[in-house]
Amino acid sequence: MKKYLIIGGSIAGVSCVEGIRSRDKEGEITLVTSEPFSNYGRPLISYYLEGKTDVKRMSWRGEDFYERNRVDVRHAVTAEKLEPEAKRVLLSTGEALPYDALCLCLGSHPFSPRFEGVETVENRFFFTTLSDALALEKTVTKTSRVLVVGAGFIGLKCAEGLRDRAGSVTVCDLAEHAMSANLDADCAPILEKHLEANGLRLMLGDTVERFEGQTAHMKSGQTVGFDVLVIAIGTRPNVSLLAEAGGGVNKGILVGEGMETSLPGIWAAGDCTESMDVSAGATGLLAVLPNASLQGFCAGVNMAGGSERFDKGIKMNSIGFFGLHIMSAGTYTEPVYTELTDTGCKKLFAKDGVLTGFILLGDTARAGIYTSLIRERTPLETIDFEAVKKEPSLLPFGQDYRAKKLGGAV
Ligand SMILES: Cc1cc2nc3c(=O)[nH]c(=O)nc-3n(C[C@H](O)[C@H](O)[C@H](O)COP(=O)(O)OP(=O)(O)OC[C@H]3O[C@@H](n4cnc5c(N)ncnc54)[C@H](O)[C@@H]3O)c2cc1C
Repeated sequence: MKKYLIIGGSIAGVSCVEGIRSRDKEGEITLVTSEPFSNYGRPLISYYLEGKTDVKRMSWRGEDFYERNRVDVRHAVTAEKLEPEAKRVLLSTGEALPYDALCLCLGSHPFSPRFEGVETVENRFFFTTLSDALALEKTVTKTSRVLVVGAGFIGLKCAEGLRDRAGSVTVCDLAEHAMSANLDADCAPILEKHLEANGLRLMLGDTVERFEGQTAHMKSGQTVGFDVLVIAIGTRPNVSLLAEAGGGVNKGILVGEGMETSLPGIWAAGDCTESMDVSAGATGLLAVLPNASLQGFCAGVNMAGGSERFDKGIKMNSIGFFGLHIMSAGTYTEPVYTELTDTGCKKLFAKDGVLTGFILLGDTARAGIYTSLIRERTPLETIDFEAVKKEPSLLPFGQDYRAKKLGGAV
């Protein structure tokens, strides 16, 4: 019986189990995760702080997922060393687990530059795990002044989650705009206005130069007093396990279209990897949930002898703040359509006759059509693009296209 080993129990790991079980009902699957919790939706941790969900409802696939799929799961255990020649992984428990097929679903870790004086800050947190959310829940009170460093989606989700728990929430970022990795200078100000109208204080184009206890000295010369600090500057893929075993890594673990790494018998999936971005025509980090899920499944199928490919990867993000929905995807090349109002925006980008990216803020209807056009690299001359730009309807597509490319959606 084949022995499968998965390291990491988040969305990529769970999807990998599903991929394996889609082909092999009998093989032995062991999953090791350093977190104490069963599979949970990482994007839900801010909703937990808002009181909109609880730990039980945050589970991806239900608490009995591992039992149903006959997975031997080890919580709060870390994989410390990979021995590819011996085909085994050494764990923090001292155990050595053998495998025939191994998948690394290791995710990423928070990035933290060395801020001068950060060690003098008493209450400092990251915001990437349920443990972080539980710790913030314990610490933040109605009078706490919270300072979030980083106005990307993780920092802003944290700020949203804490707004009603805290006395005040300030978010700073060296970038001139909020969510600068996802929004451009046309769309970001609409979000910023909305965040401020909902009680957040934004300090953009400015960041912390040094900390002195509960005071942040900003680059601009201003000072910000705070009680709780959250550092949300970004994340970095967890690559060291594979790199130390001699596997190929760049910013992320390098994988082929079947999610295989450079080492035989070892696959990788999710935020720890770097793979082809079809909208950019180059490899890069595609660290978002839908990609992690598709990659995990693809790896699982292939570990069980299948021939699945992950060749439609793009950067994409679907998120909301205080009721304002945002969807963005792909690469922002030449803007070919812009619609701006006080409360929303829509921008489409194209290059060489194909759609490469979009930003939708406010009305996100039919984002799936644009996503499909990007993934499929559909030549715009083959559809009524003038109609697609403005009218979010499927009518500009021929019946064949609707059936084949859009899953028959009408
Ligand atoms: C606050 C927040 C909001 C987000 N919102 C969105 C969103 O709206 N849309 C979106 O698409 N994405 C969002 N994301 C990103 C999304 O959560 C990630 O893309 C996704 O979780 C990646 O899944 P993964 O399985 O690759 O890795 P992860 O979810 O990072 O999980 C990796 C797991 O591996 C474990 N692990 C790592 N190393 C080891 C080891 N050596 N031994 C054992 N276990 C190990 C880790 O503990 C972790 O449990 C958000 C993320 C955060 C933090």
